[in-house]
Amino acid sequence: MDHFLIRMAALVLALAVISLLAGLAFGSAVAWGMFGLSVLVALVFHVWHLRALIGWLSDPQVDQVPEGRGIWEHVFAQLYHFARGAARQKSQLVRALARSRQAGQALPDGVVVLDQDNRIEWCNENAEAHFGLAQQADVGQPITNLVRQPEFVAYVDAGDFSKPIQLRAARGGLLILSVQLIPYGDAQKLLLSRDITQLEKIETMRRDFVANVSHELRTPLTVLAGFLETVRELKLDPVRMRDYLNLMGDQTTRMQRIVDDLLTLSTLESAPEPSRNEHIDVARLLAKVKDDANALSGGRHRITLDAPPGFDLAGAESEIASAFGNLVSNAVRYTPAGGEVRIVWRASPAGAELVVEDTGVGIEARHIPRLTERFYRIDRGRSRETGGTGLGLAIVKHALMRHQATLEIQSEPGKGSRFTACFPARRVVPATVRPENAATT
Ligand code: ADP
Repeated sequence: MDHFLIRMAALVLALAVISLLAGLAFGSAVAWGMFGLSVLVALVFHVWHLRALIGWLSDPQVDQVPEGRGIWEHVFAQLYHFARGAARQKSQLVRALARSRQAGQALPDGVVVLDQDNRIEWCNENAEAHFGLAQQADVGQPITNLVRQPEFVAYVDAGDFSKPIQLRAARGGLLILSVQLIPYGDAQKLLLSRDITQLEKIETMRRDFVANVSHELRTPLTVLAGFLETVRELKLDPVRMRDYLNLMGDQTTRMQRIVDDLLTLSTLESAPEPSRNEHIDVARLLAKVKDDANALSGGRHRITLDAPPGFDLAGAESEIASAFGNLVSNAVRYTPAGGEVRIVWRASPAGAELVVEDTGVGIEARHIPRLTERFYRIDRGRSRETGGTGLGLAIVKHALMRHQATLEIQSEPGKGSRFTACFPARRVVPATVRPENAATT
């Protein structure tokens, strides 16, 4: 027998013995009366405790478990013990749930938890942004009521979730998402979404770039093949033969320039950031750039250089030479004979800047934001005639970017252009003074 039954049996036995003794002393009526009274007291005692128990059960707070007497003290102590254990487990579960939700929120992807009927159980903030969901309001809604793109609905219906699909986000339409359903548990699913807009943009750029390169190289190759055919088929006199060979040489040079510029660009993209230890003697470099510009101009332009000594640059000389060279040669190439090109190296509020100004053809405002795109040209004919590849300003932009410098372009059609390469103070260093290097023309 357990403890409780023994105690109850002892109590009833004690009452019976007392009542029996009272019966022997005072008669059976008194005995029954005493017995009945004792039972009534016991009943009231238990009913009172039961009431306390029922009252507590209606709002079971751990710190409000009632106190009891007798056997009820033991019952309520046990109850307190269980209630405290349950409360501890509950708070552990709540913490675990909060942690897993926080982890879900921290994911860089969108996550929607769906039940077996594809209704939303939970979603993180990225999913809200990707699909335009509202975490509170949309719980319980079928996902296909909210993500209605036909390709998504077909994907859900088809039931083959082995691969993700691409989706354009409905609201705004600018986001491109990679979306995949992942079944788990008992017919539940995770809907994962990843923003691949940037990746797609890069992929489009890569495709355009390959198409552009192929096109740029195919044109001179076609011309070259045509000349080769002619030279092979026709019996040409030596003078015409030389003309043809010269034309073929031009096309080869053009292809060579394109390939050289492509290699420069790809080196700029893949090489580590230029160190700040390499000292570039800017005045000397610009003097050389100016000589090259004079050679390109063939005396048809007035070219001036103003680069007083005092400060130089820290970085990769070949890259800066390429950037400055391209800016100055562009100024010559896009300025008609008789025009002027001014090259100025000077301090600026941010650090230092190279200004290349010309009195050339100028550029319409709508073209300016696109000038540094690869193969973007305003006037293809002029670019080609003057030996352009369409890659010059892309090289300038990359070379400057690697030195934390920016390119500013101001221009007025018919009047001229001003290209400014702006360097931050951390790339500007005092010149290792050699006054004879200063060039002011
Ligand atoms: P390109 O080899 O064709 O010169 P760039 O990338 O150097 O290619 O320049 C892109 C385009 O920007 C050029 O085709 C030309 O139309 C325009 N451009 C560049 N520099 C100048 C300038 N100084 N004046 C007018 N137009 C310019």
